[in-house]
This record gives sequence, structure tokens and C-alpha cells, in this order.
Amino acid sequence: MRQQSGDVSLVSEDVKRMADLLKSGATMLSDTCPVCGSPLFKVKGDIFCAKCNKPVVYARATGPQATVSPSMLLESVEQTIIGKITETNELLKLEKDPEKLSIYSNLVFGWLSMLEKIRNLKGNLSNL
Ligand SMILES: [Zn+2]
Repeated sequence: MRQQSGDVSLVSEDVKRMADLLKSGATMLSDTCPVCGSPLFKVKGDIFCAKCNKPVVYARATGPQATVSPSMLLESVEQTIIGKITETNELLKLEKDPEKLSIYSNLVFGWLSMLEKIRNLKGNLSNL
């Protein structure tokens, strides 16, 4: 095992935490955190937000959310994911550890498939 040292300061904390979660067997969900909009992870039956660094209890379907339209929400999630992909892409460029490369690649892959879903949803909304 290598020691963690100061050389990872470029890596944002939440991306590192996501990588750790995936390493520990967590799965990334297609849902996002109601607080910060980051993708949520399922860890042994609990829903966890890597950015807030705490379990998330999300109240689904508690009634109409009058102020946020579905397309605005999708737009915001899309921006978050694009930001994460950009961040992780920078990490991929610098990373040489094959294990971490594989973890980051998995993250990017997961986000790309989320993006695809979001864009499909947006397409459906605009066709209404
Ligand atoms: Zn959060």
C-alpha cells in the first residue's frame, strides 16, 4: 500500500470519496442528491452522498415541487455531471495507477450513461 501524501491536492475531495465508495463495492445510482445535485451511491442498503459526505434520506413524491420545472432540473443535473466528467478527465490525464484509472473510468462511464438518459429525457420533454 502506498501512503497518501500531499500530491493528491489537485483531486477534489468528493471525487476521491466517490472513487473510495466504488472501491468498497458501492454502486452509483441514477438519482442525485437533493442538497448538492451530486450522483448518489448505494452502500450496503444506504443511500450516500459523496459530496455532502453523509447518508441521504430522500423523500420522494412528497407532492409537486412548484418552483422547479422538470427541464430546469434536468439542465442542472446535466451541468453537474458535465462538471464531474471534466474534473475526472483531468484526473485521468495525471493518474498512472491502473487501479485508480479503472475506478475513474468507471465513474466517467457511469456519468456518461446518466448524461445519455438525461438527454433522452430532455428530448422527450421538448417533444411534448
Ligand atoms: Zn449531497
